Amino acid sequence: MISMLRKPATWFLMGIVLIVLTVGLPKQLAAAPVPVYIAQGTVQSEIGKGLSANPAQLPPLPYAYDALEKAIDAETMKIHHDRHHKAYVDNLNNALKKYPQLQGRTIEAMLRDLNNVPSDIRNTVRNNGGGHLNHTMFWEIMSPTGGGQPTGNIAQEINKTFGSFDDFKKQFNAAGGQRFGSGWVWLVRNKQGQLQIATTANQDSPIMEGLYPILGNDVWEHAYYLRYQNRRADYLNSWWDVVNWNEVNRRAQVKTQA
Ligand code: MN
Repeated sequence: MISMLRKPATWFLMGIVLIVLTVGLPKQLAAAPVPVYIAQGTVQSEIGKGLSANPAQLPPLPYAYDALEKAIDAETMKIHHDRHHKAYVDNLNNALKKYPQLQGRTIEAMLRDLNNVPSDIRNTVRNNGGGHLNHTMFWEIMSPTGGGQPTGNIAQEINKTFGSFDDFKKQFNAAGGQRFGSGWVWLVRNKQGQLQIATTANQDSPIMEGLYPILGNDVWEHAYYLRYQNRRADYLNSWWDVVNWNEVNRRAQVKTQA
């Protein structure tokens, strides 16, 4: 070994190695692409679109607070949107301040890949990013002119999958009633492209499981407490009177990525 170090050729080779290491390595790192996480079989909505975290913004309610009185009272809507949803947005933005490199990502991308979110804000992103995403969908899939029987393709697909709209509602309401504590009940498109009923705890989003939410009902008490008190089953029954089937049909067109 010592005799090798005496040879000029050895020093020459070591010099080359050093130059390659110092010049080549940083270039290689810089060229490494930002990983875009798309899990195998994950359902994609509109590719390249998503809910912005740059910064997250509270969307205005698409109707007046009292517009959904058929199912939900104005005061509940006001507190739910102006305070609860706003808090999710504010908490998320505060957490992301420390990590400007995350602000260009969508909420969906972060929720699909929580392990790549720094551990000190991971739960905050999960709860508040999830809360922001879930509620943004929630306001859109309700409408003062909603309710009634499903329309369009989703009507046929519900019949095919669950037998009838009534059977579907029964299963959906039962799942929502059985969700212990705070959470959501969903109609999702699964990885096979089929309709499926699912529930999640807290503000978890189905997209964390590779499922795409087509419609969902918030079964946290804050969604129904003022009018329904502890009667979640009554709330789940009445809620169908405001479901916006046009928007549900739009969301149902999501394609699965094989
Ligand atoms: Mn809520």
